[in-house]
Amino acid sequence: MKRKLPIFLTAVLVLVGLLAVQLNPGAHAAVAAADHDPGVGEHLEGLDVDTVDWKAKNDSYWEAALTPAQYQVCRRAGTERPWTGATLNNKKAGVFACSSCGQPLFPAETKFESGTGWPSFYAPVSQSSVSIKADLAMGMLREEVVCSRCDAHLGHVFNDGPAPTGKRYCINSVCLLRQDATEPKAPKAPPSQDNGNGH
Ligand SMILES: [Zn+2]
Repeated sequence: MKRKLPIFLTAVLVLVGLLAVQLNPGAHAAVAAADHDPGVGEHLEGLDVDTVDWKAKNDSYWEAALTPAQYQVCRRAGTERPWTGATLNNKKAGVFACSSCGQPLFPAETKFESGTGWPSFYAPVSQSSVSIKADLAMGMLREEVVCSRCDAHLGHVFNDGPAPTGKRYCINSVCLLRQDATEPKAPKAPPSQDNGNGH
């Protein structure tokens, strides 16, 4: 009997431990539930973002339009602290757009867990959606990724990503805006005779 009690206690402790591990992912998901960082993208509300001449916007426009953190990273080529971005753990289907101008940049299906603390993708929506520039700022040659429509600094691209591209686009969360897959993208259907067949 003296030997059985510790075994029983050990079993209870193991069960409690397993329960705690089970509960933890749920709590973590709740913290990361926001679609993007607070305030990011608010200046785009109500705008037809495809018709704006984004490259004509000057620095004072951006400073007024963006959140301080967004301005510092996207317009001053800063880097946000790792593991802090609201889109880091977002795994929902859809596309991540530029938080400065709304251009679609990275499909959610190319997002992968890089372990770096920054949202990471292996491919952009298209090669024309981002521009790559040489960056010598840190005393080494890196490839800077910028939005092709508004020149926002997004992050850097490295050659240690997964298949099929082998690329790792390491992007600041604050430069990204979530767009859900269900969001209407198609132009409004022209008025036509309804033949009763639906679509
Ligand atoms: Zn942009």
